[in-house]
Amino acid sequence: MLSRLSLIRSGVFSNAAIKHKNRMSSAVQNAKTLDAQPQTQITDSPTIVQLQDRKFEEGKQYHGFQCVRCEKVPEFGIMSYSFQHLGTGTELWYVDRKDQNNAFSINFRTTPFDSTGLPHILEHSTLCGSEKYPVRDPFFKMLDRSLATFMNAMTGPDYTMYPFSTMNEVDFRNLQKIYLDAVFKPKLSYLDFLQEGWRLEHSNIHDKNSDYVIKGVVYNEMKGAFSENSSVFGQSLLNNLLPNHTYSYVSGGNPLEIPKLTHKNLVDFHQKYYHPSNARIYTYGSFDLGKTLSYVNEHYLSKYTYVDNTYSRIPNQPRWDKERNVHISSRLDSMGAPFEKQNQIAIALLMSDVIDIQETFVLYVLSELLVRGPNSPFYKSFIEPNFSGGYNQTTGFDPQTKDTFFCVGLQDVRVEDFGKVKNIFAETVEQVMVQGFDSKHIESVLHNIELSLKHQSPQFGLGLLFNTTPLWNHEGDVVQNLRVSNMIANFRNNLKCDPKFLQRKIEQYFIKNTHKLTLTMSPDETYEENFKIAESELLKQKVLGLDKEKKDRIYENGMKLAEVQNSITNVDILPCLNLDDVKNAAKQEPLHVLKLREVPTQVCNVQTNEISYLKCFFDGSELTKDEIKLIPLFCNVINDMGTKNYDFREFDKIVLSQTGGIDFRLHFAENIFDSKSYNLGILMTTHALDKNSENMFSLCKELLTNFRLTDTERLKMLIDNYVSNITVGITSSGHLYAMQSCAGLVTDAAKLKSELSGVEHIEHMKNYVKAHTTEEIMENLRMLGEKLFNKNAMRVAINTSKEYYPKLVNHYEQFLNDLPSVEYKKMENKVNLLKPSCQHFVMNIPVNYCAKSFFCVPYSHPDHPALRVLAKLISAKYLLQVVRVQNGAYGVGAKVGSDGIFNFFSYRDPNSTKTLEAFDNTYKWLQEHNEQVTEQALFEAKLGVLQQLDAPVAPGNVGIDFFLYGVSQEMFLKYRNRMLSVTLKELKDVAERYFKAEPAYYGKCLLGPENKALETETNLKWKTIV
Ligand SMILES: [Zn+2]
Repeated sequence: MLSRLSLIRSGVFSNAAIKHKNRMSSAVQNAKTLDAQPQTQITDSPTIVQLQDRKFEEGKQYHGFQCVRCEKVPEFGIMSYSFQHLGTGTELWYVDRKDQNNAFSINFRTTPFDSTGLPHILEHSTLCGSEKYPVRDPFFKMLDRSLATFMNAMTGPDYTMYPFSTMNEVDFRNLQKIYLDAVFKPKLSYLDFLQEGWRLEHSNIHDKNSDYVIKGVVYNEMKGAFSENSSVFGQSLLNNLLPNHTYSYVSGGNPLEIPKLTHKNLVDFHQKYYHPSNARIYTYGSFDLGKTLSYVNEHYLSKYTYVDNTYSRIPNQPRWDKERNVHISSRLDSMGAPFEKQNQIAIALLMSDVIDIQETFVLYVLSELLVRGPNSPFYKSFIEPNFSGGYNQTTGFDPQTKDTFFCVGLQDVRVEDFGKVKNIFAETVEQVMVQGFDSKHIESVLHNIELSLKHQSPQFGLGLLFNTTPLWNHEGDVVQNLRVSNMIANFRNNLKCDPKFLQRKIEQYFIKNTHKLTLTMSPDETYEENFKIAESELLKQKVLGLDKEKKDRIYENGMKLAEVQNSITNVDILPCLNLDDVKNAAKQEPLHVLKLREVPTQVCNVQTNEISYLKCFFDGSELTKDEIKLIPLFCNVINDMGTKNYDFREFDKIVLSQTGGIDFRLHFAENIFDSKSYNLGILMTTHALDKNSENMFSLCKELLTNFRLTDTERLKMLIDNYVSNITVGITSSGHLYAMQSCAGLVTDAAKLKSELSGVEHIEHMKNYVKAHTTEEIMENLRMLGEKLFNKNAMRVAINTSKEYYPKLVNHYEQFLNDLPSVEYKKMENKVNLLKPSCQHFVMNIPVNYCAKSFFCVPYSHPDHPALRVLAKLISAKYLLQVVRVQNGAYGVGAKVGSDGIFNFFSYRDPNSTKTLEAFDNTYKWLQEHNEQVTEQALFEAKLGVLQQLDAPVAPGNVGIDFFLYGVSQEMFLKYRNRMLSVTLKELKDVAERYFKAEPAYYGKCLLGPENKALETETNLKWKTIV
């Protein structure tokens, strides 16, 4: 979707936060649009390799590397080869798999001993230019010259990684060259350090007398991160639970510490940690490894000598003999729960050494058993009594660090309940130690792990890398870690030999474990103010230390930096794909649409690795506005309330022991032909092993025909958790919320969409819950379900293998026979355009998210592909340059939706009006910078669009764009060809048509701090929402 933004290096904080996924993570994700999930294309989907030849032999040498180990991993169709470079000892892991989406990464073990953000700023700076590619920002330039399916760099708590993936071999080699040179031979110039790290600068760089300010990309990025409570909480948990070594520091950088960093620190850190002996290289897929080995050896590794890398090893954390408590304060979230409820608490326990693979697996299963779903003991003791807003993001098992840990945390808790939480924790683990777990519950957890092994993701290679990096970083056995079937077998065997196996683990890790941390967090109304005071104090100190000479240098550097930033670099030196490399679309799997028992059914026979996928769409056009607004809540609770024949615990157990879960979500799509109507309803999705597909259908039937809405207490708890969860993560996806809300100022359909899944949804839900009793809500939900779950309003998509299809269709027809069928008439939902307006959501955050939207043309209009190319071009050549590089926003871009709405957005932006003005000046820029709108720029923009159009699709999702949006394969190919044939003249024509005059239908939206000058500076009327 946000090609640029989603690729921006963003991993810094994610590692501190833990993986437990709530069913509903962010409201925005609920409503997907065509552009949000570009999945129209099919390529050679990963197929399981029958028998692979050994391409390399153990003990033999290849291009300076020795093959030290070669093993087959049949469950993934993998042949794994471990190499070691003879000169430097660099490890290289090659995962050979018949998958077109090849991946590559260079990882370094980076262990900072302060919170100045060294590894993070280095990660940014290495991408600013290197020996062979001395242009400014080659990484960002390559985004435009590649067909990468992923390109990024991330800083973890103890590693820095540089991964990419692509399906095109020319591209693979190009990116490999750029990445290798960036990490081993970066320029790391002083000006790059000032730009990416931090600097003192005059607020007006041309005025020596203007005030000094602290600037810098990472400095601003981390200011943004530190304003997100969930990030601060996760970071603090890591720092305090593992306080004796590198984990006690903020690898991303604490904004108040970053200004202690010097350029020399940065260069020294690179020298020490980016040595090949401290590097691990990963390569995955089907491309020729020989070429990689010889290139890496010849150009880089052969030029270094071995150093002992034990300096970057991380020792185990010495265990405490007494538990600890830590309290921190947080920003008061104006959209969150009431002040007295806006507290968080987590209890964390240090567990195994991550390299003990079987033990780590057992602890993962144990953690799932303890926290996930209505059968788990912590769910029963913490969630069901409904005194909090549910689990927070830290809940679950974390195997990212040298010592793994378990954590259970709650959000929206009263301070008075902190003590209660600690007691409940102790009581719960005592009880589990005595009672153990129900064997069906254990089976459902193991079944889900087995199912996920078969489920094919289009980013398998990267997924493997991300899952393995922490283990590899600590010198664990990455191949053994892939033998999940063995681990499951061992687990079952242990349990068989010792029925109290898990209870003993509970005793060891939960009852007798004194390395236990209770972290609590409460809002502080002066949090922002305190930060501002600390920041200005820091600035004052910095300025006091300046003599005349230093002041002159700051002035000069400010000008110099601006000059460099404003200059246009010649990027011809960078490799680029050409039209021949990309002109052919990938092969498409045939789709068939038939009517079975009167139900329109789309069938895709594709290699699914023994899994059948089912999607049912229920049209909601007969619903009233009030009913529509209940859909998100309905989707969130309907599979959690049980059925007439099973209570919610039983039902959860059965569903998870037979399927990958039955999920519901809102589906909302504007008509791609004319944008004058829209389609809205509920999408039910599930998948199961072929052998369980009959049960999958009967469980779906049970839920659709016998859903139960009778338990008010349970419903109330689910509603409360839902309301707490929708307010989490607004700031981390602020640009999406701003854009969605902004589109809602342009059409009434987009407005409705935002009310269903945007910022407006939060307010709506809070008010709705206040205005209705739980009984009333339950009754409304029940009526909604009865109206929606109707065979006559249903369409279905099935993805399964050709071989299994005949059997599946029998089960499917049986399922259709039993579904209720009520008379139904599809109605037209009309889209209306709205008068221009502007709105500002006032939030106490230190950054802004700006958006501007206007109406142009929908997907099927011949101008749409040209507008899409134009959006890419202005993002790369104009907005990035002005809003990110010059004005310091972390991200910025433009995109056009299939609904016909053109959007501009910025992310973690220090400015507001300045950025909105930049959006308005697009036409002017195009006029004045004609020299930048070249054939090459046009081609790069097309590549950017192709990255979305040709993105790989999972076998279970092939055909989804036709099913959900009506984009047929013929339409898609036509669109793709039309896009590739767009000329400069056409680009200019659409600019004239859509950008010259102020559009008739537009809106502007801002999420950010109070701004009194907004109306005068923009000369517009703003609606302020506090
Ligand atoms: Zn960053």
